Amino acid sequence: MFDHLLAPLDLGFTTLKNRVLMGSMHTGLEDGRRNLPRLAAFFAERARGGVGLIVTGGFAPNIEGWAKPFAGTLSTSAAARRHREVTGAVHAEGGRIALQILHTGRYGYQPFCVAPSRLKSPISPFAPRELGARGIERQVRAFVRCAVLAREAGYDGVEIMGSEGYFINQFLAAHTNHRTDAWGGSYANRMRLAVEIVRRVREAAGPDFILIYRISLIDLIPEGSSWPEVLQLARAVVGAGATVLNTGIGWHEARIPTIATSVPRAAFTWLTRKLRDALRAEGIATPVVASNRINMPEVAEAILARGDADLVSLARPFLADAEFVNKAAQGRRDEINTCIACNQACLDHTFANRLSSCLVNPRACHETELVIRPAATTRRYAVVGAGPAGLAAAVTLAERGHAVELFDAATRIGGQFNMAKAIPGKEEFEETLRYFGHRLAALGVTLHLSTRADAPRLAAGGFDAVILATGVVPRDPRIPGQEHPQVLSYVDVLQHRKPVGRRVAIVGAGGIGVDVAEYLAAGADHGHPSPALDAEAWRREWGVADPETARGGIARPRPAPPARAVVLLQRRSGKHGATLGKTTGWIHRAALRMKAVELIAGANYERIGAGRASGTVALALSFGPDRRDGTVLEVDTIVLCTGQESLRDLHAPLGAAGVPVHLIGGARAAGELDAKRAIDQGTRLAATL
Ligand code: FAD
Ligand code: NAP
Ligand code: SF4
Repeated sequence: MFDHLLAPLDLGFTTLKNRVLMGSMHTGLEDGRRNLPRLAAFFAERARGGVGLIVTGGFAPNIEGWAKPFAGTLSTSAAARRHREVTGAVHAEGGRIALQILHTGRYGYQPFCVAPSRLKSPISPFAPRELGARGIERQVRAFVRCAVLAREAGYDGVEIMGSEGYFINQFLAAHTNHRTDAWGGSYANRMRLAVEIVRRVREAAGPDFILIYRISLIDLIPEGSSWPEVLQLARAVVGAGATVLNTGIGWHEARIPTIATSVPRAAFTWLTRKLRDALRAEGIATPVVASNRINMPEVAEAILARGDADLVSLARPFLADAEFVNKAAQGRRDEINTCIACNQACLDHTFANRLSSCLVNPRACHETELVIRPAATTRRYAVVGAGPAGLAAAVTLAERGHAVELFDAATRIGGQFNMAKAIPGKEEFEETLRYFGHRLAALGVTLHLSTRADAPRLAAGGFDAVILATGVVPRDPRIPGQEHPQVLSYVDVLQHRKPVGRRVAIVGAGGIGVDVAEYLAAGADHGHPSPALDAEAWRREWGVADPETARGGIARPRPAPPARAVVLLQRRSGKHGATLGKTTGWIHRAALRMKAVELIAGANYERIGAGRASGTVALALSFGPDRRDGTVLEVDTIVLCTGQESLRDLHAPLGAAGVPVHLIGGARAAGELDAKRAIDQGTRLAATL
């Protein structure tokens, strides 16, 4: 089925076994030598899973290039010797691995950062030091030394990171390069650094060493590269010795999402195609890699079959499932645990200085510690609730050989994920349910749907223990008058699909309040299509242009008009959606702005009653501690999104009946509950029973 994906690729001096490149990800395991054994285990599992070529997370070539203080660096022979543990583990599994050389330039979150010009980036508090000519030469030498050490360490190649707005990219764009010497001004001067690094790395590392150059296809910033410049650079780095052109999309400071779940799958491969076609027309056959939002084998296969690229780069999908390639090759596509592009356990962790993992696969980066072993004694377990927590627990218990019965009152598995997947831009959440559904069947878990479990029946069931994953119920905000028939809960809207009027007030701006605002403003309840499923509509909405016609690829955003007037309210002051993830909160806030959602903060909810205009409902608000100022919102519908409380009505009666009980997910604690915590708890508990 996946002939293109699984076809070998001849690089001249070596052959890759398939077209899948595991893209570079900073997991945190790169930082600190004590983590190298864990890094080795992490990559070895992916190599065993069949990936053609792994690219490590970024290693700095020197201190100036650090992403943060004491970030992973490869600059000494001693360090290179330690890396042999990583390369040896990958080679033992029949894999290939290249080390990414990452110099962050002005993105460095550290005081020694350097750049072409002294221009602070919007994403780091540190202003970089402007390099002199000798300083630039030192950076080039550091790249070369790092590549030579990588070869000594047993790596099959290096990737030179030239995209995403890092050091090399900063030289390329006039936005960040204001120099007037031989390294600035004309494009030939601005690209000198990239070409010089590739040329000298090739010279020093020898001809039979994979040299990937990661080129920025579309910067998505003002004064970014033009398309002729991208082509000029591509030709030059190939001429200087690059074996493969990997591609990057957007600088980190760009205000257009590039990998979040609301970005359509394979949204940027038209650009890889453009590059590949242009090079082929000139007789340049260097393999080009497509990246960003490629998360299933059929997506990757279609990219390759269309001729958009020669290889595909998948990064986060290898956190979600180490066996992605083998499963695709063995006709087990439906068993792939799909990356839903939520960023919650990977990128959000990186920005919080925490080790990465994966929301749908808590074992990612914890391979040595969270081990799913066959149980010494097999037992019978009941799991109540087939939301993310219960599903993770049931599957892990069954993987260990236990007999599992899973109960849910609903007609299908998934719990709240069935509401989440209705939100425009969260369609991917369905993949997690598809995955769990297949695992349950494959592992022989007995599934009782449409079955509300009760304590007497569970106690009579003779289970060794019961795992309660019964989730949550919406929190009652106790606003006087909230029993008005035009007041709905998010469950009424998303699950029971109750009709909602043209003017809406949403009470509560947590994750669910923001989601409901996007859902209603986009008219998803009336079947308006989600831009996440329509790449062209999505590009219009966010203002992504062809870099051939607009430098940097940015245009004026042209979102579809809102389907209704929405007001989003919260009690606290400050920005809305403040509890959302660092890497996605800004996207949600921008989406709300696009749909002209009115944001009101610092509100007290006084009472709800009939509005003055016929058929409306009124919400009286006051502001400030003395509650003297106020206003009344007259709308057609009020939707309550005021958080959640644990549902664990079975806990006490089961305990009283002497049945061992474990609580996980929302049933254990509703506060700040998300699916990451739910799945993690379910998996970890089941790994120990
Ligand atoms: P639930 O998902 O609530 O599942 C509990 C299950 O137990 C239900 O299926 C219920 O029917 C069943 N049950 C209860 N009592 C019984 C009984 N007595 N017998 C049988 N079955 C019973 N989280 C994120 O991490 N990221 C997001 O982007 C995100 N977006 C969301 C968007 C929306 C619109 C919503 C509503 C939620 C979102 N969440 C998100 C939250 C996430 O879905 C929850 O944190 C997660 O579902 C909690 O998992 P759980 O298994 O503990 O409980
Ligand atoms: P939440 O994030 O706890 O938000 C609840 C909202 O209701 C807050 O705005 C809160 O803020 C308000 N509120 C709380 N008690 C209230 C009361 N008594 N009266 C009036 N308002 C009250 O919960 P949620 O939105 O229900 O989301 C549930 C969980 O799902 C979240 O914890 C989140 O992690 C997860 N989720 C995540 C995402 C995501 O994209 N990552 C999306 C959806 C859901 P104020 O007090 O300021 O009004
Ligand atoms: Fe993908 Fe979310 Fe896992 Fe990150 S945490 S790898 S985005 S599923």
